[in-house]
Amino acid sequence: MKILKFGGTSVGSAQSIGTVIDILKKEHGSGEKPVVVLSAMSGVTNLLSAMAEKAANGEDFTAQLAELETRHFEMVRTLLAVQHQNPAFTRLKINFNHLEELLQGVSTLRELTPKTRDLILSYGERCSTLMISKMAAQYFPESLFVDASELIKTDNEFGNAKVNMELTELLIKGFINENPGKMLFVTGFIASNDANQITTLGRGGSDYTAAIFGSALNASEIQIWTDVNGMMTADPRMVKKAFSLPELTYTEAMELSYFGAKVIYPPTMIPAFMKQIPIVIKNTFDVDFEGTVIQHHCKPSNLPIKGISSINDISIINVEGSGMVGKSGFSGRLFSLLAREQINIILITQSSSEHSITFAVSPADSEKARRVIGQEFELELLANKLEQPEIEKELAILAIVGENMKQTPGISGKLFHALGRNGVNVRAIAQGSSEYNISVIISKPDLAKALNAVHDAFFVQLNKTLHAFCLGTGNIGTTLFRQLNEHSEHLQINNGIQVKIAGISNTRKMLFNADGLSLDKWQDELQASNQKADLAGFIAQMKEMNLPNCVFIDNTASPQPIKFYEDIFKSNISVVTCNKIGNSASYDQYRMFRDTARQHGVDFFYETNVGAGLPIIRTLKDLMSSGDRVKRIEAILSGTISFIFNHFKGSANFHDVVKLAQDKGYTEPDPRDDLKGTDFMRKMLILARDAGYEMEATDVHIESMLPKSCLEAATVDDFYKALQEEDAYFTIMKQQAEAEGKALRYIGKLEDGKASITLQLVDENHPFYMMSGSDNIISFTTDRYKDRPLVVKGPGAGAEVTAAGVFADLINVGAN
Ligand code: ADP
Ligand code: ASP
Ligand code: MG
Repeated sequence: MKILKFGGTSVGSAQSIGTVIDILKKEHGSGEKPVVVLSAMSGVTNLLSAMAEKAANGEDFTAQLAELETRHFEMVRTLLAVQHQNPAFTRLKINFNHLEELLQGVSTLRELTPKTRDLILSYGERCSTLMISKMAAQYFPESLFVDASELIKTDNEFGNAKVNMELTELLIKGFINENPGKMLFVTGFIASNDANQITTLGRGGSDYTAAIFGSALNASEIQIWTDVNGMMTADPRMVKKAFSLPELTYTEAMELSYFGAKVIYPPTMIPAFMKQIPIVIKNTFDVDFEGTVIQHHCKPSNLPIKGISSINDISIINVEGSGMVGKSGFSGRLFSLLAREQINIILITQSSSEHSITFAVSPADSEKARRVIGQEFELELLANKLEQPEIEKELAILAIVGENMKQTPGISGKLFHALGRNGVNVRAIAQGSSEYNISVIISKPDLAKALNAVHDAFFVQLNKTLHAFCLGTGNIGTTLFRQLNEHSEHLQINNGIQVKIAGISNTRKMLFNADGLSLDKWQDELQASNQKADLAGFIAQMKEMNLPNCVFIDNTASPQPIKFYEDIFKSNISVVTCNKIGNSASYDQYRMFRDTARQHGVDFFYETNVGAGLPIIRTLKDLMSSGDRVKRIEAILSGTISFIFNHFKGSANFHDVVKLAQDKGYTEPDPRDDLKGTDFMRKMLILARDAGYEMEATDVHIESMLPKSCLEAATVDDFYKALQEEDAYFTIMKQQAEAEGKALRYIGKLEDGKASITLQLVDENHPFYMMSGSDNIISFTTDRYKDRPLVVKGPGAGAEVTAAGVFADLINVGAN
């Protein structure tokens, strides 16, 4: 025999009830007569509870009562043949009349006891089961409505009653024997005490009813039909990437559900475990999906954990004081007290010094817990052996669960790395003695971020999602988005990384979307955005969104964003930038960026600060971190100047070559910004600092290649005129070089802590002689590379290669 339990959403609409009947027909057709356990229609238990509260406060509840009636009556009209409708209406109406009388009573007395509340809540399951049993009877005439409160006997703990299994099993077996050949439709959730007063088994308790019947009848299987594809790696409402688990052990299912995976009610596992009955969680809305089997033995899995669950609102109470040290009876006294007062403790941690005990309770219990502790330990408090218990609110629990954790080292490291990198502060930690779970207490607003970050960290077979916030939509920004769009599939398949652009801003508009902006329509969407650009607002919103694995990308050349870097690092967000201004301003700021990023466990990548996409910064860092020491760096790092000298040959004159470079977009609006060497200087400064030198901009000696008149010209036009007038100066330079068979090169050098940029003539044996286009070249002479330097050479300017460098940095953030 099988038990089939259908949850609230499965019986929440005419369509889903239709599916339920189809499932039953199939089961029935295979010769089975299952026991069917039903929940109240979705939302009904909450509605009843709200009505009870209203009544107790003397408020009007009639609108909700009418809503409840209508929902059930409409269902009867839709799903029952006309000739069967009246008896159903009559039975339901009797229920609603009783309910109304009860609520009136509560309203008159202005008192709602747990006992009355249970009685009120019981109408949800009674109405739904009555109604569905009538509908089923159209197809299965042997259908029989069963009020489980007559069969399941409990203690008097209303709201969360404990079952007397022995008596209950006897009653269920007896009932079955008296009703052979019937197909039972059983109310979930409800039971009764010795005095036959209605009790309930706790919210979500219909699952438990199914297991109780399964155990009493030695069922072959307990099926829990719900609205998701079985037990998943996390709550799919919180973690979009959650996937369903084919198998779980009873312990794993118990731990996951205990820590909030409400897809199954934790006590359900106990009777099933005792009788070794498999529980199968199935989806009413995807009938063919296999779902999850919970059983004793599972196939070995290589997943380090099975799932992550969470309780999204808890409080913790901290009890602290010298009076606890070495007092063996203290915690016994504390926890017996809380048990006596029916305060449910979700989790306990004790510091190794025994100086404090922290435990988590539901927020509704926290004040009561503090009060009773105050009373029980009054003397200790007076004697200052104990401090006043403190309550902390607005917290959540996140737990990772799986039996494999026991054998796998490094699980907690991975958990804390993911939390730390995302700036999630862990308030307390508990590892179950079974080692099947590690649970952490974190602040409630961080829960969604934490769940997603931890899910990404453990389920690496899925893509890790990076949330990027991009500033600047000029050449580089636009090219980056195009590259991301072109490579997104490759990136997911080969790097396991999915990049979502969660925010974009230029100087006019900004736009956000936590699910990722469209990579091909972002321009139109940004244009149409009604949010005006506001840098501080952009940063604030990025922080506010609190997404996991966040990266801020600065694709501007403006000093404005730099002011926010420190704050961004402090918000545990990594920074990728092609903006050189930050790293080339004061040394103190340069240091502070690194220190702050490190302190907050995030990345600061700026490969494109030097040589666009060429791997220069990375090479230098690798050399340094592997213990090498830089003796000398020589470099050509101005793509613009390279271009100019590579074209300043034969009959070409200097003025025309500069103009050509400008027309091709290789120069700054004022070409002198390149020719004066300022940009080159910034790159040399960053390299020198990365090589370990504490240097300021003024420490880089620059030899100007321009005569005074060109430097002093008031406007760009005047500058071009001056270039023409000084033509002889440049021509002599060129002719001298050509006569000697040499090439003109503007070369940066770092040696013995001194940096300079000078105009030099190099002969054909020099590695810098052969250059083309806008090539950059850098040679590192180090302790290891001392005979032949390590050389990196290639195109060092242009949107395509710069964006590619930013892209690579972004992927490196994802890899960490
Ligand atoms: P029913 O009404 O069928 O009893 P519940 O609402 O009690 O259904 O439980 C199903 C819900 O549990 C799902 O809709 C889902 O949002 C939530 N849930 C939380 N954690 C998990 C998880 N790990 N796997 C699947 N569902 C989960
Ligand atoms: N209807 C009850 C509740 O909502 C029991 C259940 O659905 O399992 O808690
Ligand atoms: Mg449920």
